[in-house]
Formats: sequence, structure tokens, C-alpha cells
Amino acid sequence: MAINTTNYEKVIQVLGKKSATLVAVSKTKPEADIQALYNLGQRDFGENYVQELVAKQPQLPADIRWHFIGHLQSNKVKYIAPFVHLIHGVDSEKLLREVNKQGAKLGRVIDVLLQVHIAAEETKFGFDSVELEALMQTGTLQALGFVRIRGFMGMASNTDDMELVQREFEGLAGLFRQYRQRPLPHTELEVLSMGMSGDYVVALEAGSNMVRIGSLLFGARNYQQ
Ligand SMILES: *Cc1c(COP(=O)(O)O)cnc(C)c1O
Repeated sequence: MAINTTNYEKVIQVLGKKSATLVAVSKTKPEADIQALYNLGQRDFGENYVQELVAKQPQLPADIRWHFIGHLQSNKVKYIAPFVHLIHGVDSEKLLREVNKQGAKLGRVIDVLLQVHIAAEETKFGFDSVELEALMQTGTLQALGFVRIRGFMGMASNTDDMELVQREFEGLAGLFRQYRQRPLPHTELEVLSMGMSGDYVVALEAGSNMVRIGSLLFGARNYQQ
């Protein structure tokens, strides 16, 4: 196992021109690989599985900003609430309320992104635009003083049709611009998390300012391990 330093430097260069943030997605990868990328200066890392994140976090430098990017079950929020930097995948009001509850217990305001469903596929999680509008109301958000909605996250269709991917990203960027103009409680929209190894360039063109990249940096994942 080794990290791909050449790809890392290339990605950093591309992102630098756009002032975008790299979240290095280290799911299934050993702590040694994370430490190697950390040693090159990387501080934002993304994980998908609660158990894995909770096991890795104490073994690695304390100044790592841990992003939870997977599908989060309400009953597991409590395990990551004390230290997580940003939860990307909040995809229901129930989950948002649970994050708020755990934040309240800790006296910690937890930053979240709302996951918006932009892909043509049915299988991806996230709010559709009608559900998003229902949530983004002063009346709903007012009581949620221990979360701060920092932005939106989206995953495009898993396809080679880059025009479709582009349209999906542009759709989410449009929603982001629209909601940014609206003052809402506990909401400071700054982050648009879109783009992975295969589509981050398209995402940046569409207006992403945070990309989540795994396999380009760490190599392909082997889920059998
Ligand atoms: C795994 C994952 C990524 C990274 O995917 P790569 O194709 O390896 O870059 C990004 N975002 C989410 C939500 C993921 O689950």
C-alpha cells in the first residue's frame, strides 16, 4: 500500500486555482496511508463508516479534520459527535434533529451539509428539491441551535456521460446560490461538496469548493479485506 504522491500534488494544484478544499477519502485504507498523506500536509480526511472512523481517529494526529461522508444512521451519531469536523451526508430531518440532540448533550455546535439527491439513479440518498424547501424554513430550523448548516453535498450519477454529470452538478450549484441569499437560522452556507476521483474537474467547473477524493490518492479499494 502506498499513496500516489504525483496525483496528490496534481489535485492540490488544480484545487489551489479554485480555492477549493480537498477531503482525502481514506475509507478502508490503513492508518499508515493516512499518516503518509498527513506528512505531506493534508489535514482533511473523509470516512464513510462510523466504526472505522471511531477506531482510526485516536490513532492519528489530533489536528486532523475528520469529515463523515457516508450514510449516517441516527443511532450512530453519538459516536462521532464529540470530534467530527463536518457531516456531509445529512439526508433527513430526523437525522438533523439527532445531530442537534447530540450536539446539545456535548455543548458543541456541529457543522453539517445537507445531502441533496441530484443523480438520475434511485439508489442515492438525499433530499429532493421539494424536501429541501420544506426543511429550509425558519420555523423548522429555529429550534436546532446545536447544528450549523454549512452547505450542500451531492453525488452525480455514476456514468461516463459527463454532460449528464455536469448538468447534475450545475443543478445543485444553482440551488446553493439560491439558498445562500436567504437568511435562515443556524445556517451559514459556504460549502458546496461535489466531485470525486472520476468527476472532480467537472464539479469544480460547476462551482464546487470541496471535493472528496479517494482512489486517485490511495489507489483502488478492496472491500474484501
Ligand atoms: C468513496 C466516496 C468518495 C470517494 O470516491 P473516489 O471515487 O474513490 O474518489 C467520495 N464521496 C463519497 C460520498 C464516497 O462514498
